[in-house]
Amino acid sequence: MIYLDYQATTPLAPEVREAMLPWLVGEAEGDGFANPASPYRAGRAASVAVEMARDAVAALLPPGGRVFFTSGATEAINWALFCGARVKPGGVVGSAIEHAAGLQCIEALGGSLLPVGAYGLLPVPAADALPEGGIVATMLVNNEIGTIQPVAAIAEVAHARGSWMLCDAVQGFGRIVIPEGPDLIAVTAHKIHGPKGIGALWVRDGVALPPFMRGGAQEQGMRAGTVSPALCAGFGAAARLAAERMDADAAHVARLWDIALDELQGWEINGATGEGQRWRGNLNIRRDGVNATRLLSDARQVAFSLGSACGSGSGRVSHVLRAIGLSEADARSSIRLGWGRYTSEETLRAGLGAIKAAAALQGHI
Ligand code: PLP
Repeated sequence: MIYLDYQATTPLAPEVREAMLPWLVGEAEGDGFANPASPYRAGRAASVAVEMARDAVAALLPPGGRVFFTSGATEAINWALFCGARVKPGGVVGSAIEHAAGLQCIEALGGSLLPVGAYGLLPVPAADALPEGGIVATMLVNNEIGTIQPVAAIAEVAHARGSWMLCDAVQGFGRIVIPEGPDLIAVTAHKIHGPKGIGALWVRDGVALPPFMRGGAQEQGMRAGTVSPALCAGFGAAARLAAERMDADAAHVARLWDIALDELQGWEINGATGEGQRWRGNLNIRRDGVNATRLLSDARQVAFSLGSACGSGSGRVSHVLRAIGLSEADARSSIRLGWGRYTSEETLRAGLGAIKAAAALQGHI
């Protein structure tokens, strides 16, 4: 498989696998399976592993907040919005290009959506477009078109309205510096070469978010349920690696971006491309008359997508592409390519070659 779908998920880093194994197979201290809440030595060792992971994840987030582990970003977003809305009842507003996790919560809470411009960037809203004493949800990097939103500026307006700001930072976490400003930040491990099934909600100190899961006293009484030392150790190792390699990864990704643009002449890019406006590990492109679904099947040795992994299979056209003003036909002629740390130039060229050959079958040379 030629993997060009880094926005859907990323391969597990070898270092992450190494960090997880002792806690999976029971070799850490000889007793790696222990419950991290248990009072004896093995339990305390597991608890130390969890706390070291928490510190590593926190190091990639702004100062002045606490990290609570969750099952992923979807859970973190549900927690922030549903529990937050109980204490911030002024209403929920989010960008029209939020991931399904945010969109579905906003819809269920009777909230509204802010339109984005043609390049997939959210203009900083006027104060009266935001709720008073509510919650404003804006993602940092869009998962379909890679555009980077002005999160800090939006947080400022939200705060002026006495609202909290939730940032879905999933696609920016570990790749770019997370801006200060949000009160709540949702992240996940599997987009930074960590394991699936673990994420976190960062809560700014002083933000009185009610607890989510009720039960045991885990996660400082905020999210009950036994945490997995293996998943935490993996998340922590992935975060440490991301911190060490942030600049190198970004430079690598930018090199691949240049190659892809060179190879894909005749295609149009969806979303902004300016410096600082886009994560260059995402290329969402379209070509008039191309049937993207057919392309996907004709280039089946390449793993790429038509939009978010969560929306695929629904047959619906991407809400993000529609929100930036594309017609249904243009949206159906668009594909999403994503690359990252472990994508070599050869792999990228091979994948693009296969996609171009599949487009040629449709008469697009
Ligand atoms: N938000 C964004 C922007 C995403 O790309 C994803 C992942 O698909 C999620 C949220 C959901 O994250 P998780 O898979 O950890 O629930």
